[in-house]
Amino acid sequence: MSPSEVGALARLRATNRRAVMRALTQHGPSSRADLARRTGLSPTTVSGIVRDLLADGVLSQQDERGRPHKGGSGRPPRLLTLSAQRGAVAGIDIGHRHVRVAVADHVGRIAHELERRVDSDERGPRTMDVACELLDEALGAADAGALTAVGLSVPAPIDRRSARISTGILPGWRGVVPVEDLAARVNVPVTADNDANLGALAEVHHGAARRSQHVVYLKLASGVGAGLVIGRQVFRGATGHAGEIGHVRVQEHGTVCRCGSRGCLETEVSVPRLIELLQPAYDLPLDVDTVRALERDGDAGVRRVLEDAGATVGRVVADLCNAVNPSLVVVGGPFGGSTALHRGLQAALDRYAQPDIAHAVSIVPGELGTEAQVRGAIALALAGLIQQRDAAPIG
Ligand SMILES: [Zn+2]
Repeated sequence: MSPSEVGALARLRATNRRAVMRALTQHGPSSRADLARRTGLSPTTVSGIVRDLLADGVLSQQDERGRPHKGGSGRPPRLLTLSAQRGAVAGIDIGHRHVRVAVADHVGRIAHELERRVDSDERGPRTMDVACELLDEALGAADAGALTAVGLSVPAPIDRRSARISTGILPGWRGVVPVEDLAARVNVPVTADNDANLGALAEVHHGAARRSQHVVYLKLASGVGAGLVIGRQVFRGATGHAGEIGHVRVQEHGTVCRCGSRGCLETEVSVPRLIELLQPAYDLPLDVDTVRALERDGDAGVRRVLEDAGATVGRVVADLCNAVNPSLVVVGGPFGGSTALHRGLQAALDRYAQPDIAHAVSIVPGELGTEAQVRGAIALALAGLIQQRDAAPIG
């Protein structure tokens, strides 16, 4: 073989290895037949790759047997899993009002998790200090081995080329490049993405969208955004800003937004805005928990406000559905399980999405709740590790 043929073969092998590892990251323990089906590789190719990965210690074979084949004849297949004995990864979720850190092993099992309240919007550098303090504390408590990679979730658009946060949205982060800042402090690779994309990634790997190919994940919290999943991959667009629906203008003469425009979706339906709208009608001080309890008790005012919010955001989500044709809209954030919100969303999809598209889509609550972003950040860190292994020289 010529040197160029050898090179091409090595690249093909690396691509195939990565496909197998990605399938295991996404679907968990799998048989060789599962891997062949999910990667589209031939059973012989999969067997060869699995043999190499087992020899390298990247995969382990579970003692526990999988379920028998249909019909019950023959030996059940042995399940393969990514090895857990290769140090720790961390997920860091920076929200508008909190920092959450989770340390996990190399198959994504969380060993320790911590959260602290902090006003991250105003103070980028201080927030990074808090994140690092929590990370040290969590690593100490988890006893999960050396840190090998970090995934970071930020509550604003982040440019996938420069890794800079949009400071039009978060002015307190001017001059801070969180990926570089963190990588310099922890001395391991750091990858970052926005909260909606990572919520989408987590729901695809571990939550409501685990069996879906094409998904719109809606994050309705202090900010509003969407993560688009196409063929089980998060679609980020040219610069990482795909799905940024928070600043779509929905009220011509609405409230002035932090982005400089007015009447943005985020100023109309963010969770703080909904609570502010409801508060004058109630004697007790409202927060997320009291609003959810009032909805369960059938409170007419709460139901009305949440249903209207669903309709407002649904008008924008309907356009996204027309573009993406998803089978699922996953609603994340504290009101993700609100039936009134879902009713409003459904009405807007029925009205504004193309009928065949509206018919094909189901609206479901996120299953991971406030864990979604940190779980997504861990998945991102693990995906980064797979890419590094792939880029390493091949013997
Ligand atoms: Zn705006």
